[in-house]
Amino acid sequence: MTNTEVKRPSVVVLGGGYGGLNTAKALDDVADVTLVDPSGAFHHNVASWRALADPAWIDRIFMPLNRLLHHGQYVRDRAVAVDGRTVTLESGTELHPDYLVLATGSHYPFPAKTGATDYQGGKDRLKAAHDALIGAGRALIVGAGPSGLELAGEIKGHFPDKEVTVVDVNADILHGPFEQELRDELKRQLDKLNVRLVLGSPLTALPSVEPATLGAVDVTTEGGDRVEADIWFRAFGVRPATDYLRGDLAAARNEQGYLVVDKQLRVQGVDGVFAVGDITTADRDTAGAATYQAAVVAANIKADITGEDERQSYEAGPVLIVVPLGPDGGATQLSTGVGGPEEAKAIKGESMLTEMYSVHFDAPED
Ligand SMILES: Cc1cc2nc3c(=O)[nH]c(=O)nc-3n(C[C@H](O)[C@H](O)[C@H](O)COP(=O)(O)OP(=O)(O)OC[C@H]3O[C@@H](n4cnc5c(N)ncnc54)[C@H](O)[C@@H]3O)c2cc1C
Repeated sequence: MTNTEVKRPSVVVLGGGYGGLNTAKALDDVADVTLVDPSGAFHHNVASWRALADPAWIDRIFMPLNRLLHHGQYVRDRAVAVDGRTVTLESGTELHPDYLVLATGSHYPFPAKTGATDYQGGKDRLKAAHDALIGAGRALIVGAGPSGLELAGEIKGHFPDKEVTVVDVNADILHGPFEQELRDELKRQLDKLNVRLVLGSPLTALPSVEPATLGAVDVTTEGGDRVEADIWFRAFGVRPATDYLRGDLAAARNEQGYLVVDKQLRVQGVDGVFAVGDITTADRDTAGAATYQAAVVAANIKADITGEDERQSYEAGPVLIVVPLGPDGGATQLSTGVGGPEEAKAIKGESMLTEMYSVHFDAPED
């Protein structure tokens, strides 16, 4: 071991999602990195709906975290309390790193995120949800955001004969900062796929059966529309995973539970603590934003360690989105304007962006 290696500062990264894996990987050469995540694998949840419709994808979207780092270590555990830079893990181990990066992401209803503490269990649950979908003639999706529409497209793209209904309280699809032209293009394609949209009125109650399982679904909107189905999926309800924060870190959360960070993605008033991805207020909840934020945090920690570079700031980017509707359909909103199925397929629909992340898992197994 050389002198420079001995002096490496320690960095603990909590969470092996898009933000955490990119931060840990970028710092692996300059710091003593410990990545902590309970599940054993990075879950490329961007492709979850594809894997639900086509189980050949299930193995591709879980990437073993012990193959990520060449120098640092992966610890399969969960942070149960973090106060300043003191991290307490479920196993009882305490960590006191020089730098701490919080990247614990968000909860999202199954099966987009499995919530499983063991990734093999997550795979099994996803396969069971696929089997249930196979047995269902009619599917109800609650939520007409990007995720719900993408799910409708995956079901219709793989099983054109299944009846699919999407309901949403909003009067139009894709609530949020999107171009109307994008909504119109997606609605044109959904109509062609025979997807029924029931918009502008809340359900009087959510279905009484568990989502993603076979069961009689019978719901009514306050506006009087009735939907019957054999399976339903919940495509709304992102919640930041910040409940393990204590002291000043807990106080740095806003009312929705998101952690407030400054332009350099530091948590104010807590020395040496950074945060990236869905847990922060830095940007919208996207894998793309988490990935860019990871680059900024890694650059800022490197700048601190080497004293050579300027610290970087993160600026929320313009609203860009790709919404595939199955492998061949969908639409995009890019800096060049709104695009159709060819763009959606080329950017995301075909590959589901899998290689962008799988390339990082090149370390020999420990
Ligand atoms: C169906 C679907 C499609 C999507 N498509 C796109 C897309 O095309 N493009 C895009 O940019 N975004 C997309 N998103 C959004 C994107 O997936 C999220 O923004 C992204 O997951 C955020 O990454 P993250 O690293 O912040 O957190 P996550 O990916 O949620 O990862 C967090 C990690 O932290 C771990 N963790 C949680 N708690 C603890 C703890 N206490 N201790 C240790 N580890 C912990 C978890 O196990 C997990 O591995 C999509 C989301 C869904 C659901």
